[in-house]
Parts: sequence; C-alpha cells; structure tokens
Amino acid sequence: MSPSVQSGDSPVVAVTATVEPIGGVPRLRLNAAYVRALEGAGIVPLVVPPLADPERAARLLERVDGLVLTGGEDIEPARYGAERRPECGPAQADRDATEIALARAARDRRLPTLAICRGIQLLNVALGGTLVQHLAEDAAGPSTHRPGGDRTSRAHDVAVVADSRLARAVGGVSTIAANSSHHQAVDRLARGLVVTGRSPDGTVEAAETAPDDPWWVLAVQWHPEELVESPEPWDRGVFAAFARRLQVGGRWPERT
Ligand code: MN
Repeated sequence: MSPSVQSGDSPVVAVTATVEPIGGVPRLRLNAAYVRALEGAGIVPLVVPPLADPERAARLLERVDGLVLTGGEDIEPARYGAERRPECGPAQADRDATEIALARAARDRRLPTLAICRGIQLLNVALGGTLVQHLAEDAAGPSTHRPGGDRTSRAHDVAVVADSRLARAVGGVSTIAANSSHHQAVDRLARGLVVTGRSPDGTVEAAETAPDDPWWVLAVQWHPEELVESPEPWDRGVFAAFARRLQVGGRWPERT
C-alpha cells in the first residue's frame, strides 16, 4: 500500500503504546496494524510510550499534528470514581496517566484526535465520563463484543447517526458492521462528546465532538486498523477522514 500523499507533506501524529513483558523484559508494544493503517492514509506515526511524568508526554504534542489513542488494557476504575469490579482487568498506571494527560492536552491545543477501542474509553474518562466495567455475556455462546477468533471478522452491526462525522467518514451509510474485541464500554458520556454509533444491544460504539466544537475528535470502539484491507470502504474511510482533517489543520471550518 503506498501513501496517498507525498512524504514531505505527510502529517505526523503521536500514537500511544503500552508496556508488557516480552521475554521476561518490560518492552514497548504497539500492534503494527495501526502503523500500516496510518501510513496507508499518508500519516507518519510517532510512537509515544507511557512515561513516569505524564506532563512530558503532553509536551510532545507541541511537535505533532494529531493524536491517536490506541487499544489495550482496562483503565483503573478509580480514574472515573468507581469501585473496581472483579471482572475489570489489571490497569497500567503510567499508561492511564500519560494518555489522560495527552487527551486533555490535545483538547487544549485543539489537536485532531482519533481514538480506538481503549481509546474511546480513555477519552471518555479523561473528559469526565464513566465506563461499564464488564458487558453482559451471552451464556449460550460467544459474547457479542468479544467473540474471539480473527480480529478482521465483523462481529456486529453499528447503527451510524445521520450527518455525523462518522457517517461522512464511512460514506454516508446508516449501518456498518464492525469487528469487536472489548468487554468494557462507555457508560455515562463525558460532556463535550456525542454518541454517533451504537451496536444493536445499545452499547456505545462511536462518539465524537459536536460539529461546532473546534476540537476534531472521532472515537470508535471497534478496530478499524484491522479492517483497512477489507472489501468495504468504511474503515479506510475513518483513517482518510482523520488524514483530511490533519491536512487542513485548523484553517478550515468543520464539515471535514
Ligand atoms: Mn463491540
């Protein structure tokens, strides 16, 4: 896949990552699907690790054109004022703190932000919302939102709110099908976000900032980075919408 723009014109975006033990050593890790999807849209990804001092991570946003909040671990429930439930997975304190600082700094700088899976949850928490710690499971079979298997398989529909940023990104259709690999979801939505996609069971699958908000945000609960080679154009459209917004920067009114 070749980039859609000349590399000299390519925007650079901060992309968050995690730390996990690999071969007994804590190492940085990012699913390379994010890199391929961003490069395919003509965007240069700059990987940002969890840092001990989250303000340093926020400073990095002075040097980039956008932010991508990526998938990963559950967020510590204390971050949204909740008691930890047994089904909630282990959190990573440095990653939570770094990404919350990045999300708030992106808002302050009106830096275009694409949030994916954990990213939509992190964004919601950073802006004052809460999460469902564990979605109900279907006792009769594989769960709707974490069916397992191939990460490129579309697992459930997403009803898309008409005239939303998401709707324009996916080509104006009212329903798409998404892959799904999550057991948590947005519960109470943060102020400043609007829901623009839901699965048939009502789970929040997409959110964004309002059309008149100068901060461009597109947040999805599924994994479009795994679907950019799909016959359907929807997921390439998500990255293309982000790329278009990066290229116009803050110079153009909303509707991109
Ligand atoms: Mn889902």
